[in-house]
Amino acid sequence: MNFEYYNPKSMEELLNVLDNLRNYYFLAGGTDIVVKMKDKIVSPQNIVDLNDVQELKGISSEEDHLNIGPLATHTEIEESDLVKKYAYVLAEAAAQVGSPQIRNIGTVGGNIGNASPAADTVPALLVLDTTVQIESKNHKEEKNLLDIFKGPGKTFLTEGQVITKLKVRSIKEGEGAAFVKMGKRKALAISVINCAVWLRVDKDEIVEVRIAFGSVAPTPIRLLEVEKWLKGQKAEDDVFKQAAQMAQDAIKPIDDIRSTAEYRSTTAASLVYQGLKTALQRAREEVGNE
Ligand SMILES: Cc1cc2nc3c(=O)[nH]c(=O)nc-3n(C[C@H](O)[C@H](O)[C@H](O)COP(=O)(O)OP(=O)(O)OC[C@H]3O[C@@H](n4cnc5c(N)ncnc54)[C@H](O)[C@@H]3O)c2cc1C
Repeated sequence: MNFEYYNPKSMEELLNVLDNLRNYYFLAGGTDIVVKMKDKIVSPQNIVDLNDVQELKGISSEEDHLNIGPLATHTEIEESDLVKKYAYVLAEAAAQVGSPQIRNIGTVGGNIGNASPAADTVPALLVLDTTVQIESKNHKEEKNLLDIFKGPGKTFLTEGQVITKLKVRSIKEGEGAAFVKMGKRKALAISVINCAVWLRVDKDEIVEVRIAFGSVAPTPIRLLEVEKWLKGQKAEDDVFKQAAQMAQDAIKPIDDIRSTAEYRSTTAASLVYQGLKTALQRAREEVGNE
């Protein structure tokens, strides 16, 4: 492996480095990129290590959302009191990533940047309506997370751009969420299929709902049609069963080494049903499922 190594110490230095650089990858935890380099799937000319850029770290709360630095590791997310209280579905998803060793170094920014359709934190972030802050030398913008993904392993980020913050909407009273994953083995399993659900109820009515899936399409997806149908429906078992069937009909998964399309389709229905039921139960409890 032959590459130039850059190790900026501040955001300013990082953006300056990126301004003149081509053919590079970032190094956050390295759990994806180092494996890809070893397997010769990628051979970048340059590696930009993000780990000394303090501005990319930390988790804080603000009005109706959490600010999460892309360098937050899965363990930090899983153990954060703020995430456990206001975005517990994300803590649940982070807790399901790989093994403790992977969670200790793998980051949420890397999980997004790697753009795997199976990334576990992404469906949870999608149902929390996450906005991604992207910066380059002379520009800063915010995009909905859903608009970041182009295809397997590909994002719409262009050269010079880096994800600098995630704005994750807090779960409030009357709202509930759940993450459900089906992997091949319990530990170290990349998802065969994963699903996150968020809903807001008023008495017995579903006021708003978001459903996201991983591993059923080239990118993580939201089930916008099913969400639209659920809005205004009664929050009850029969409705959840119908929504589960609609979800199964809506997705077009593929066969691959981890599973078959048929298995993914039927599993999708049960994950949506289970997700809706758990989210409803939580919406009816107090805020914060520590
Ligand atoms: C054994 C094993 C098991 C795994 N199990 C799971 C699992 O169960 N679930 C799961 O979801 N993943 C799993 N993974 C994949 C991986 O651990 C995660 O995707 C992890 O979150 C990647 O984070 P990282 O910090 O290591 O990323 P890195 O490898 O450092 O980077 C990954 C990619 O993201 C880009 N990137 C990093 N930071 C930024 C940023 N701030 N802005 C823009 N782009 C950025 C990099 O350029 C690179 O392309 C597993 C990996 C291994 C090796």
